[in-house]
Amino acid sequence: MSQQVIVLGGGVIGLAIAFELSTKGHEVTILEKVRCGGQASGAAAGMLAPYSEIGEDPDDFFRLCLESLREYPMWQQEVKAISGVDFEYTNSGSLHAVYHKADLLGLKTRQSWQSEWGAKAELVDGARLQQLEPLLADSIIGAMHYPEESHVFAPDYVKALEGACRANGVKIAEELESVDIKSWRDEIEVVSKAGQTFKAERMVIASGAWSQELEEIFDLRIPVFPIRGQICAYELGEHKVNHIIYTSQGYLVPKANGTLVNGASEDIAGFKTDVTEKGINRLTNWNHNILPFLKKTDPFHRWAGLRPATQDGYPLIGEHPEASHIVFATGHYRNGILLSPITAKVVAAIITDEKTPVPIDLFAPGRFTI
Ligand SMILES: Cc1cc2nc3c(=O)[nH]c(=O)nc-3n(C[C@H](O)[C@H](O)[C@H](O)COP(=O)(O)OP(=O)(O)OC[C@H]3O[C@@H](n4cnc5c(N)ncnc54)[C@H](O)[C@@H]3O)c2cc1C
Repeated sequence: MSQQVIVLGGGVIGLAIAFELSTKGHEVTILEKVRCGGQASGAAAGMLAPYSEIGEDPDDFFRLCLESLREYPMWQQEVKAISGVDFEYTNSGSLHAVYHKADLLGLKTRQSWQSEWGAKAELVDGARLQQLEPLLADSIIGAMHYPEESHVFAPDYVKALEGACRANGVKIAEELESVDIKSWRDEIEVVSKAGQTFKAERMVIASGAWSQELEEIFDLRIPVFPIRGQICAYELGEHKVNHIIYTSQGYLVPKANGTLVNGASEDIAGFKTDVTEKGINRLTNWNHNILPFLKKTDPFHRWAGLRPATQDGYPLIGEHPEASHIVFATGHYRNGILLSPITAKVVAAIITDEKTPVPIDLFAPGRFTI
């Protein structure tokens, strides 16, 4: 049965959820304080890299990330088809590069448990590594090659998601400046600064790094806080880079438009999204250790965004413990682009009272509230 759903926040998570819900026939309204895709989502490097990102033992978070990677081929096709907007989705594969013999052991440990989860992971060195990525620094002694890891061009992906939502009939109210949640326990009523009233049967909270502001209203601990990520891009010129290259100090992502995205710093700066010399230097001072030609090149573009981090590193996905019609989908930290398809499918399953495609107990929004 069709339900009326308000989605609070128009980042990649809110947009993906609105797209999935509207595809299933629900009447969806996105309420966005500023502009859709204008915050963390539009700033991301767009890597879809669960094997590179998660080095520890597998848990349900790794499973969430992996399932989302596997959703992408079909998901990105649907978003493109419905929106009519093209965006880069490249199955480039990745190289997780290391510099010391001792680090090879760590890679092998990853390889053994990741292979049990179906990962195609191959430890490469010498001529094979040179063949895969000819411009790599000689100091790199080996790398784990993950052929399944991919990337999207995030600013275009969120534009396409927004287009797909509009094509599906999702109402989008942007630049609201502030939204006042007047009631939610029984009836949901939200009023914008300009006095517009929005009512619905269900509400999804997808407000990213700003989610903690809603703690008092929902009588729930929501320990989501902003971690600034500073990032930059180079023009590749005549240089050819084939893979996402991941190292302990930063990563490089070659884009189809001839640029090389280099991310990303992590610091705490409240809600500031300015770029600092120190933040970008941390990246640029390291890069020649990955690709020596970068020593003579300056990035042509620098920007920053706020990752929604949580106290325990896991997102909040699921129902409010006292009100099942309020559903949280926030705190995706470093992996919101990767996690957008699976989060949308999980939230749609919750709203339609179906079994979720993956276990979500680990992400229960009530886990911080005693
Ligand atoms: C530099 C950088 C690089 C990254 N690289 C990657 C990567 O390679 N791969 C990957 O998977 N992830 C990456 N990430 C992480 C990813 O960008 C985030 O996890 C993801 O964008 C979070 O999406 P979101 O929709 O929750 O948040 P946002 O995109 O921040 O959207 C939240 C939206 O909610 C709105 N809002 C807030 N409060 C309210 C309210 N009360 N009412 C209405 N609207 C509200 C905001 O205005 C905002 O538009 C990166 C992030 C950064 C900063």
